[in-house]
Amino acid sequence: MDLISLIIPCYNEQESIPHLEKALNELTSSMSEVNFEIILVDNCSEDNTLKMMKELHEKDNRYQYISFSRNFGKDSSMYAGLKASKGDYVAVMDADLQDPPELLKEMYAIVKTGEYDCVATKRGDRKGEPWLRSVLARMFYGLMNKISSYEIVDGARDFRLMTRQMVNGILKLEESERFTKGIFSWVGFRTKWLTFENHERVAGETKLPMKSAFNYAIRGIVAFSTVPLVMASGLGILVFFAAILYTLYVIIFQLITHEAVSGYPSLMCVMLFGFGVIMMILGVIGQYMAQMYLEIKNRPKYIIRDTSIEQ
Ligand code: UDP
Ligand code: MG
Repeated sequence: MDLISLIIPCYNEQESIPHLEKALNELTSSMSEVNFEIILVDNCSEDNTLKMMKELHEKDNRYQYISFSRNFGKDSSMYAGLKASKGDYVAVMDADLQDPPELLKEMYAIVKTGEYDCVATKRGDRKGEPWLRSVLARMFYGLMNKISSYEIVDGARDFRLMTRQMVNGILKLEESERFTKGIFSWVGFRTKWLTFENHERVAGETKLPMKSAFNYAIRGIVAFSTVPLVMASGLGILVFFAAILYTLYVIIFQLITHEAVSGYPSLMCVMLFGFGVIMMILGVIGQYMAQMYLEIKNRPKYIIRDTSIEQ
């Protein structure tokens, strides 16, 4: 019998967990042809999430938990879950039931055919999301796919079922600044995409505020594209040629009219423009340096405070 590991990152999900438990129990009893291992990863929640996880584990030992010493972010939770998983197939899903668990049946049937190594999901629309977030997200995906050679599907969720082989591939990428959507794409393998209608979160509020979504976007770009660096040098070259043209103009103007180009305003414009460009380029380089710095330190991606899984 196959073992499926379900990895579920949770942060302050005390309201969702009872719904999750019910949905998972329904799912597992309807898929009696497989065994399940459910790994709940607590991102150091401030509410009763961990307590509830422990109760679940006591009641039903298919439920396991890993609890972090602080919030290391959802990407680290997924990594910890993948690392601890033992299943022949491994799925990642959210705790708030925005990823419909019943879809797993179809996903499992597809990977079982052997034609695909992974069944991933995306949502059909962004219904129920604040419009500004939708617009920014669309812009991000548009840009990302132009400047990165790895496809990042718009609306893709982290909800997916993968073979052990693919999971082992993902675990080989040990970067600490993890942009999991990019990593899924980077490792390759044959992926089938399913589209499902967007669901509202079952209870509680979103745990990913706009600010962290923005940082996540920058991290994704820096991690999976070097085009901004190329653009920075391109901009430098452009400004250099503009400077040459302007110098020529100044010389020719002087030769023809025997008058100097009037000074202060034009000087100021050129200087401010030049400074602006330099700052911008430094900013871009800075982002890459920051990511290099964080990678070089090679800190652990998470620290476990409490777990039911033997390490
Ligand atoms: N999550 C997490 N750590 C965090 C933030 C979120 O483990 O720091 C989990 C959260 O509990 C949920 C999933 O990641 O299971 C997705 O978060 P959320 O539903 O808040 O994001 P949204 O669906 O609004 O993008
Ligand atoms: Mg959600």
